[in-house]
Amino acid sequence: MTHATEIVVLLLRGGHVLFLLLLSTLLLGCGSVSLRDMIYEDDDSTTIHTTNPVFHKYLDKLPIRTKTPVIFKTKKGNTAAVCAIRTDGYREIQVDPRYWSKYGDSDRLELLAHEIGHCDYDLPHNNNKMGNGCPLSVMHDTVFGDPCFSDYFDFYMTEFR
Ligand SMILES: [Zn+2]
Repeated sequence: MTHATEIVVLLLRGGHVLFLLLLSTLLLGCGSVSLRDMIYEDDDSTTIHTTNPVFHKYLDKLPIRTKTPVIFKTKKGNTAAVCAIRTDGYREIQVDPRYWSKYGDSDRLELLAHEIGHCDYDLPHNNNKMGNGCPLSVMHDTVFGDPCFSDYFDFYMTEFR
């Protein structure tokens, strides 16, 4: 986090928005997972058309309708999950098991809600923030976790209707 510390010094001197942006980028790089997560796949890529039962208890906690199968598939880089879209229109949510195993229940719910937002609701990313710093939307492009996700769960779910 030494880079972040340097940027804070610049921020105190300059007080410019640009430094704030740099700071947030560095902070995200220190722990959060970036979601570059709407991908397009060839029609001949392997697909499993049934949701892995592991995900059922989480999907049941989300007041969101989804028809998209959710499967485990190891992804490249620091991608926790994707909404994969094939040229023939078939969509599936692919969750990297390495991230899933590290996540607690709240982060797992957030990840699934986010990918359902892409795959079932065609929602784009939304990185706007509330006055208190919490994201305005579960479609924020990183997994932001608690306390924001749990504190504003009901509010975030209003985006899906
Ligand atoms: Zn996303």
